[in-house]
Amino acid sequence: MSLAEIIGVGDELLYGETVDTNTAEIAASLRPYALEVRRTLRVADHLETLALEVRRAWEGARLVVLSGGLGPTPDDITREAVAQALGEELEIDLEVLAQLEALFAQRGWQMPEANRKQAMRIPSARWIPNPRGTAPGWWVRRDGKDLVALPGPPAEWRPMWAETLPQLGLPPRPYKQATLKTFGLGESRIVELLGELFQRNGEAQVGTYAHADGVAVVVRGEPEAVERLVDALRSRLGGAVWGEDGDSLPALTLEQLQARGATLATLESVTGGALSALLTSVSGASRVYLGGLMAYHPQAKAHLGLPAEGTVSAATAEAMAALAQERFGATYGLATTGVAGPEELEGQPVGTLYVGLAGPEGVRSRHYRLPGASREVLRQRAAHAALAFLLGELR
Ligand code: AMP
Ligand code: MG
Repeated sequence: MSLAEIIGVGDELLYGETVDTNTAEIAASLRPYALEVRRTLRVADHLETLALEVRRAWEGARLVVLSGGLGPTPDDITREAVAQALGEELEIDLEVLAQLEALFAQRGWQMPEANRKQAMRIPSARWIPNPRGTAPGWWVRRDGKDLVALPGPPAEWRPMWAETLPQLGLPPRPYKQATLKTFGLGESRIVELLGELFQRNGEAQVGTYAHADGVAVVVRGEPEAVERLVDALRSRLGGAVWGEDGDSLPALTLEQLQARGATLATLESVTGGALSALLTSVSGASRVYLGGLMAYHPQAKAHLGLPAEGTVSAATAEAMAALAQERFGATYGLATTGVAGPEELEGQPVGTLYVGLAGPEGVRSRHYRLPGASREVLRQRAAHAALAFLLGELR
């Protein structure tokens, strides 16, 4: 299969000031085509290095896509680098120059000299108009290959790429991607459960990705093979699967509650409001989610009438859930208490979580030992664990 290479340009991408999401997004957009992305890279605003990498990519690949470095400042060197790599000379396009000048005139400014270079291109490049910014892109078609240079800001390049991609005439490939979302199983346990179904070769490939809302099992490949494999995976993973594709835990949970005409209230400790933040991020949450309390200091828990000792326990989680249910007059009360670290608490290790649930069928709780390297990761995992518990019980 022919190759595609994608290059993100900019110093900020190397040091994490900006995470290079462009490259991944462009790679994902190529999945319906019979082109293989085997490597992507990030290159500093350094002319010789970028020219070298573009030259190497152009030699090996059928398609090269760059993002970034089309601005007006001296560190924007994508145009120069591509010109060098392809052995062509930059020329000014007077028509585009006039358009740029008009764009500035509209805003009542005179075009700075620096923007002049945005009207430069090599003879084999066609312009890709940029309706949302000053930097037009390039589409170079030469020697049976394509190179596309896009500006860095996603709001600018997305419409430009959406316009250009179908025109490249890339060979299509029947392709489908499906995701099963699980909670409560670690990645290694999932791999164990999947056994021989965990295919990395063949018509459909499996990958696992850990997120705050659990491990996503993603299957990609030939559509029928993907569907067969997803069915098989689903029965292997059983009750651990809570959703698929674009599903979100808070949205599904609220949907289930609404379908039952039920309401929900929360009382949080370890999650510090992360649970109510998740719930209220769903539009229409107010139809179901009445509200929540956050009691962090032992004094606050005592004030609510909760035991001052043993705050990280099943009994406290259950008392908290019952209290939320009662105070708000909700069908369900959901509560979290645990240890976010970095120190252990009441002799319990970091990552300990108790989720309490009070509902029409009584009060229950569940104990978790969550993996997570930081407080924020643990808080997010804990908030999602509480929702996964409630959703499981509702179903
Ligand atoms: P540039 O076109 O290089 O001047 O980039 C302008 C802005 O676009 C940067 O400051 C970032 O906010 C954004 N940007 C550039 N490259 C990327 C990238 N690879 N991924 C995400 N955002 C980017
Ligand atoms: Mg830049």
